[in-house]
Amino acid sequence: MSDYFEEMGWTPLQDGATPNSLLQMARFLRDMGMWEMLGQHEKLPPPASKAAVEALEEIKITDAESKQCPVCLKTFETCDIVKCLPCHHSFHKECIIPWLEKTNSCPLCRHELPTDDEDYELYRKEKARAVEREKDLETLHNSMFG
Ligand SMILES: [Zn+2]
Ligand SMILES: [Zn+2]
Repeated sequence: MSDYFEEMGWTPLQDGATPNSLLQMARFLRDMGMWEMLGQHEKLPPPASKAAVEALEEIKITDAESKQCPVCLKTFETCDIVKCLPCHHSFHKECIIPWLEKTNSCPLCRHELPTDDEDYELYRKEKARAVEREKDLETLHNSMFG
């Protein structure tokens, strides 16, 4: 068995290791029944970077809260520790961490956190640049014809 994997140049995942290719992740999500939840058929963005996840604000719920956790749909209870994303959506720590270990965006609004994936970061920068170019074109267009 191990010979076969070696021949194929594959290394089986170690205990506690998370799949890191998009294909493995997609398969994993499908097996977990999370694919539909994500509601998208494109490739998933890579996981959020550990540093970004660690930097997320943690809030202890005080009794006045009646908000729901969008992942498990339970109402936050007093003393629950919730993680607050930069988009101001909050989730149970134990609900959002496994999510961000799979993909880098807020389950509600797709706000993206930084990743450790260089290729993806390049792609994001390229995408942002394309948007900028569009804006420049628009500005140019408007100054010429506006
Ligand atoms: Zn939850
Ligand atoms: Zn959000």
